[in-house]
Amino acid sequence: MDSSVNNKQSLYVEIDDKSGFCFGVVRAISKAEEEIGNNGTIYSLGDIVHNDLEVERLNNKGMQTIDHRDLENMKEGTVFFRAHGEPPESYQKIKEKGLKLIDATCPVVLKLQQRVRVAYEEMKDKKGQIAIYGKIGHAEVKGLSGQTNHEAIILEKEEDVRLIDPGRPVVLFSQTTKSPEVFKNIAAALRRRAINNVEVQINDTICRQVSNRAPHLQRFARKHDVVIFVGGAKSSNAQSLYKSCLDVNPQTHFISSPEDLQSLWFASRPQSTGVCGATSTPAWLMKIVAEKIRTF
Ligand code: SF4
Repeated sequence: MDSSVNNKQSLYVEIDDKSGFCFGVVRAISKAEEEIGNNGTIYSLGDIVHNDLEVERLNNKGMQTIDHRDLENMKEGTVFFRAHGEPPESYQKIKEKGLKLIDATCPVVLKLQQRVRVAYEEMKDKKGQIAIYGKIGHAEVKGLSGQTNHEAIILEKEEDVRLIDPGRPVVLFSQTTKSPEVFKNIAAALRRRAINNVEVQINDTICRQVSNRAPHLQRFARKHDVVIFVGGAKSSNAQSLYKSCLDVNPQTHFISSPEDLQSLWFASRPQSTGVCGATSTPAWLMKIVAEKIRTF
């Protein structure tokens, strides 16, 4: 449902009903809250979501964020794997140490990990290559690459196809949150470069929970005089969706918290303001932002 506020004194503000957490993140957060409620502190391997305020909210409830070095030193406790997933060695580590695991890997990512693993085994016999379109160092990409003993070749952009041997078979996958446009270009470039009819398998594994968001957000941004995009500074998804809005509405402003709002953006009393966000933006935060805009 659209959440909108309108009265004579305040600015008209509409919150985009499709912005906010995807189902994988909602599922992970509710698993975390349930476990904290039942058994107390949990240790999340990496930020549960790329949003500092949501992480802070969960930290106050009993979640602590750790990294892989902290995991090395852990002797007891409950470790939490977030929606991005983890490579096999992280599971191995938990097992060796006898720690309790809450695995909140998104089912879509788990399935993708399996597909990458199967393709890797198949390609071994054919001396083929596994290519993943994704961001080097991103947690999900590490989890996917782990299925290939970290032999997968990570392509961050179209030009990186030069890293692929055109004379050997290749299977292409994508990190779930990447751009469908760039994926298509990479796939086309791989096909173009392949020599001697070598096998090129293309698997578009971009999650539709996010790939449909950019065109939707552009329609939303066009509707409003001013757009406030709420997202975490560390979220690449937030940066790319913000740019999509900015492309169609130059009065789009990026904020991470209500304190970043500037009254001068509303000095001309815009007819309508849209509040939207990324897949990592909590709905409660967009609500607080909308309320604050009304006070200008
Ligand atoms: S974007 Fe898609 S794959 Fe990634 S966590 Fe959300 S639902 Fe799962």
